[in-house]
Amino acid sequence: VTDYQNKKVIVLGLAKSGVHAALLLHKLGALVTVNDKKPLSENPEAQQLVEEGIRVIAGSHPLALLDEDFSLMVKNPGIPYNNPMVQRAQELKLPIITEPELAYEVLEGEFIGITGSNGKTTTTTLINLMLNDGLSTPRAFVAGNIGVPASEVAQKIKPDQTMVTELSSFQLLGTTQLNPHIAVLTNIYEAHLDYHGNRHNYVEAKMNIIKNQTAEDYFVVNWDSEEWQGLSQRTKGQVVPFSRKNLSHEGSYLQDGFIYFKDEKICPANIIKIPGQHNVENALAAIAVAKIKGVSNQAIIDVLSTFAGVRHRIQFVEEWHQRRFYNDSKATNIEATTVALQSFDQPIDLIAGGLDRGFVFDELVSLMKLHVRTMVVYGETANLMIDAGKKAGLEKIVKVENLVDATKQAVKLSRANEVILLSPAAASWDQFNTFEERGDLFIKTVEEITNQVEESE
Ligand code: ADP
Repeated sequence: VTDYQNKKVIVLGLAKSGVHAALLLHKLGALVTVNDKKPLSENPEAQQLVEEGIRVIAGSHPLALLDEDFSLMVKNPGIPYNNPMVQRAQELKLPIITEPELAYEVLEGEFIGITGSNGKTTTTTLINLMLNDGLSTPRAFVAGNIGVPASEVAQKIKPDQTMVTELSSFQLLGTTQLNPHIAVLTNIYEAHLDYHGNRHNYVEAKMNIIKNQTAEDYFVVNWDSEEWQGLSQRTKGQVVPFSRKNLSHEGSYLQDGFIYFKDEKICPANIIKIPGQHNVENALAAIAVAKIKGVSNQAIIDVLSTFAGVRHRIQFVEEWHQRRFYNDSKATNIEATTVALQSFDQPIDLIAGGLDRGFVFDELVSLMKLHVRTMVVYGETANLMIDAGKKAGLEKIVKVENLVDATKQAVKLSRANEVILLSPAAASWDQFNTFEERGDLFIKTVEEITNQVEESE
């Protein structure tokens, strides 16, 4: 654990993670300076830190600030490395870390880190539930990209407890000390290339998760692509593969509809409540971690058969008159909706539409043909979705003004044994502040519809 007493540290960029990094460093006795672009008058987070007695420089990023003798910079993951302040810090050879690495350095318990392009939040949640199943006092806590800053959680964790930490590629960029005892790589697809510049940089950032591993550590890695298999050679830790397609008897895998870990049969795959093959992968990753940690098969089965999904990510809402409602408001792009459409065997009544970012929806046509029976659209992308739906030859397409009307329409169009799915393939910002708000309104509307009709029956 690093000694921060009287160390001069600059925290660059606030937001939630910067606030918690500053507070933690302050508490540890560091001499903290916070620098944020937003002026103090419009910056409640900075004001809060001033009240705590922390030095705040807000409104601009003055390069001269770095002439002061700082010994560390904690950078908000959202600030790119070509930012002038960051470049100057690099010239000065100032060590630059992100907030999760700070959390790692103060953590007295165990660190489990989960990264990948997709499935991070789901896998993080499953691991945490499995570690805590049946315990009256939890031994594990989620942290990181999942929404609770790691530096806030890390302070509360006791030596015999575990922090299950979701790590984005931004958070992993430039880490030096960070070393998860168990590191998980869910997969690597093309993503965030705008920030990282190219795929190589993106992969390298993610690989920081294993660069400090030693023989006592574990790397749980998706074995379903040769590229990912190859990356496993970079760890000095023990490789534990998980696989839906290859029978890798060293880890968790799927065989004839059953899930195994090494040579032990754990359970049938169809007990997994969250839908879709991608969630089988997430479950296999979580099982591998759970088995390393000695979790019982019963605990694993309990979690897989009851967990209904992370909020807004193909989240099961309710079943009503043989229709099942799912909220996939997080699907803000075509790829995510593609995954959702492939997740169901029953015909789908799809609700879609939102902010127009110039996506071409033709990619959805072939999957719509296979999985979607009716579609209700709204928002800026409504007409583009109608074109795609027509190409797919959907039985019925209806255009409405907003999500509430869309939900009502979808229920009217639906039949027994169908799935009513909100998976917008678009961001929410034309009508909502966040995708969470959109998903919450969908759930509320579904509840109102199903309660109302029940009462009037
Ligand atoms: P992340 O935290 O990495 O964004 P989530 O668990 O929140 O991932 O899932 C977000 C969306 O990503 C899901 O709704 C689904 O569309 C897709 N997804 C989840 N897991 C996987 C996976 N293992 N492979 C491919 N896509 C996935």
